[in-house]
Amino acid sequence: MKGEVGQHRGSVLWVNGPVVRARSEHGFRMLEVVKVGGAGLIGEVIGLDGSVATIQVYEDSSGLRPGDAVECSGAPFSVELGPGLVTHVIDGIQRPLERLLELAGVFIQRGVAAPRLDRERQWDFTPRLEPGQPVRGGEIIGVVPETPLVEHRILVPPGVAGTLTEIRPAGAYTVDATIATVQTETGEVKLTMCQEWEVRRPRPAAERLAPAAPLLTGQRVIDVFFPIAKGGTAAIPGGFGTGKTVTQHNLAKWCDADLIIYIGCGERGNEMTGVLTAFPELKDPRSGHPLIERTILVANTSNMPVAAREASIYTGVAIAEYFRDMGYHVAVLADSTSRWAEALREISGRLEEMPAEEGFPAYLATRLAEFYERAGRVRTLSGAEGSITIIGAVSPPGGDFSEPVTQHTKRFVRCFWSLDKELASARFFPAINAMESYSEYDRAVADWWGEQSGENLVDLRDRARHYLREDAGLQKIVRLIGEDSLPDEQRMVVMAARLIKEGFLQQNAFDAVDMYALPAKQLKMLKAILRFCDMGMVLVRKGIPAYRLRELRAFGELQRMKETIPNEEAGKIDTLIGTMEEEMYREFPIAEREFFGAAAFLADAGGGQE
Ligand code: ADP
Repeated sequence: MKGEVGQHRGSVLWVNGPVVRARSEHGFRMLEVVKVGGAGLIGEVIGLDGSVATIQVYEDSSGLRPGDAVECSGAPFSVELGPGLVTHVIDGIQRPLERLLELAGVFIQRGVAAPRLDRERQWDFTPRLEPGQPVRGGEIIGVVPETPLVEHRILVPPGVAGTLTEIRPAGAYTVDATIATVQTETGEVKLTMCQEWEVRRPRPAAERLAPAAPLLTGQRVIDVFFPIAKGGTAAIPGGFGTGKTVTQHNLAKWCDADLIIYIGCGERGNEMTGVLTAFPELKDPRSGHPLIERTILVANTSNMPVAAREASIYTGVAIAEYFRDMGYHVAVLADSTSRWAEALREISGRLEEMPAEEGFPAYLATRLAEFYERAGRVRTLSGAEGSITIIGAVSPPGGDFSEPVTQHTKRFVRCFWSLDKELASARFFPAINAMESYSEYDRAVADWWGEQSGENLVDLRDRARHYLREDAGLQKIVRLIGEDSLPDEQRMVVMAARLIKEGFLQQNAFDAVDMYALPAKQLKMLKAILRFCDMGMVLVRKGIPAYRLRELRAFGELQRMKETIPNEEAGKIDTLIGTMEEEMYREFPIAEREFFGAAAFLADAGGGQE
């Protein structure tokens, strides 16, 4: 939105909701930002036919009429990047909502202009380079402590290269002050602490890297069963009430990204209020600081104009790329991409385009791909490592996953956390269906787990899956004739699966201890549960009735350890394993003889193979 607004003018020909057609003698440019009507409503040129432009207006367009003026800017729709983004709430076109509320009251009025970044605030800048040094796009020239959790690294804008002729000493500057001058081949470039970037164009990186480390979420079913890598993509599809929002909030709160960009897309206003009020009060478990100090919220409730909602995911992801370029791991959480797709559909309808499946435009798939493709782990232009992980919630109408948004999203994401209505109505949360969900990062992150813990996560997970799969087969019979009629060995399988589900997969977002689990606790819990299951299987095969295993003290302790043993005391789970084994040896004298050879016992339990 830079450039000289009002370079030339056109006039409105036709208005249809957020879509306006206008003519200009000088012609419009594709994707340029314009101001429409007396109130100067912000819009973007999305179609051109000779001197007539089709414009999508980001603000409420009621009252606009043919003949109203259109001012051209000559510049594409961009975000302004610099200190003053973190902790703030912006709308889809980067208007600072808190500031707008102050200026315009509860109902944001049209055409209210507030600078996107605070113009008056002074930031403590510390230079990192000296005059005379060569610089190129993406290089860090200095730093600003934006919040206690985020150091804002001031980057040379991509495309600028030359010799640094001047750099200001450490001190307080506004975002508009010149802090450095670069002599380039084509002349002098003055750098400030802010830069513009076109939202629909990905920012450049030196190299794309394969995902390696997990984005830890503190949610056991995700971290262990369906892990997401830093730089990965995931979708959370689920019908109403299945836990999409709670899951997104959990990720925003507990994931180990350096920065969170939460795009609340077209959700009801009160849900967004929940985010706005809850976040400032939450503390980061690692630093003890308020989580809002590493969060940027992009808010578009359903009562805001659809075109701004359509823009919001690009605004969010462009900001994410900027922080990635500083060498950060950024998580972008979009809730919900279905509301975004509905905005696309509405605009397409107003453009009178030929609809494809369920009224969505034919380019829905391309747009989804363009969004998720901006995720990735990269080597930045300055040689650092950064990443963007994108996690989008999908809310298919009626929970029907065959609809176009879910189906197309599935093609472009590599993690699919399928939320299940039945699990949710049984209050089993997170309601991630272990049979229908998948992650294509599970092998990629296994090495990280191995290096951190010396454990083979793939092996542990496969052993747990083995029980879950056997159990899924048995459940049909259980439903028909009841669990009690099963042979003992099968009852033991059902019991083992229940322990894995209730003791490990189920996790209460509202329990102070259980709300997030660090990797060490997750691994120990899984090992303890599998030890019980595998020992139980051997005992049952030796003739011990399955019910006797459920009567053990250890069984209850394993079920409850998620809530009784906090992360800091994860070592207590080792003690629990010890007391469990002792209890088994005591209760079932044959156990001791059987269990001395651990390797033999694993092979016998049969849980090690897929
Ligand atoms: P959706 O966004 O899919 O409509 P929500 O995220 O609002 O669903 O979840 C609906 C309800 O389910 C929540 O109000 C909460 O009571 C419950 N819930 C969801 N996830 C969890 C969880 N991890 N732990 C406990 N309760 C949960």
